[in-house]
Amino acid sequence: MNYRHAFHAGNHTEIFKHAALSIVLDMLRLKPRPFMVLDTHAGLGVYDLASREAARTNERAEGVERLENGGLRSAPGYASSLAATRADAENLYPGSPEITRLALRDVDRLILCELHPEDGEALRRRYRSDPRVSVHLRNGYEAIGALLPPAERRGLVFVDPPFEKTDETGAIGRALAKGRRRWATGIYVVWYPIKGSENGKEIEAAAIEAGFADVLRAEFCPFARNGLELAGSGLVICNPPWTLDRRLRELCEELSTILGHGDATWSVRPAFNEWGGER
Ligand code: SAM
Repeated sequence: MNYRHAFHAGNHTEIFKHAALSIVLDMLRLKPRPFMVLDTHAGLGVYDLASREAARTNERAEGVERLENGGLRSAPGYASSLAATRADAENLYPGSPEITRLALRDVDRLILCELHPEDGEALRRRYRSDPRVSVHLRNGYEAIGALLPPAERRGLVFVDPPFEKTDETGAIGRALAKGRRRWATGIYVVWYPIKGSENGKEIEAAAIEAGFADVLRAEFCPFARNGLELAGSGLVICNPPWTLDRRLRELCEELSTILGHGDATWSVRPAFNEWGGER
C-alpha cells in the first residue's frame, strides 16, 4: 500500500467531497432518529497541512487555501467543521472521519475502516476516547458485507478509495451490489477522480446494475478536462436524501466562483439507465 492521503489533504477534490458529505450529514440530523455512518476508506482523520507530505505537493493552494476565512455559504456544516478543527491548530484540516464525528449527536455512530496499518493505528489512537466511534483495521469493501445493515436502519456508507488499483471501479461495483442486498435503503456516497478515465460512468452503471432505483451523479471540475491531469472529481449517490440535488447545485455554483479559473464545469443529474432514459 503506497498511497498516503496526507499528500492530497485539502485539495480541490477534498472541498467538493467534504462539503457534499457535510450536506448529507446535515440532512440526516434533521430527524431525531439515530443514524450510523460507515466510512469504508477513512484515512488519518485529521491532516497537518504543514507536514512534509502536504508541503511537498502544496495541493491545498488550489483547494482549502482559496476558501476565504474557511467560509462556504452552501455547506455551513463543512465550514464549521473546518473552524472547529482549526481551533486546535491553524494548519489542521479535517478528513471525512473528523467531519462526520463533529456532526454526530450522542445517539449516532461512526464506523471507520482503514487498511494501512500505521494510519489505522493513528486513527484508533485519535478516537479511542469517543464511544460513538469505532475503528476497524480492515478492508472497507469487506466491511460492507460484514457490518451492514446497521441496527439503526438509517444512515450512510461513504466510499472514498485511493483509485490506485486498475480495478477500483470493479471493486466499488461489487461492494454496491453487496450493500444493496444487505441494506437496500441506506444512502451510499461514492467518490471518484476525474482524469481521462470513465470512472463516473462505470460507477453509475454499477449502481443501477446493483438495483438502486434512485441514483444521483454530481461532478465538479475547477480545471478544464485534458484527459491526463486531475480536473476535478465526482460523486455517485444511491438513495440520495430529498432535495440533495438542489443543495449540490448550490454548492457547485459557489465552488465555481471560489475554486474555478474561469473554466470550471459541473453537473448534478439523476443517473441514466442503459437505454439513456432517466431513472
Ligand atoms: N476518506 C478520507 C477523507 O476524506 O479524509 C480519505 C481516504 S483516502 C482517499 C483512501 C484511504 O483508504 C487511504 O488512507 C488508504 O490507506 C485506505 N485504503 C485503501 N484501500 C483500502 C481498503 N480496501 N479498505 C480500507 N481502507 C483502504
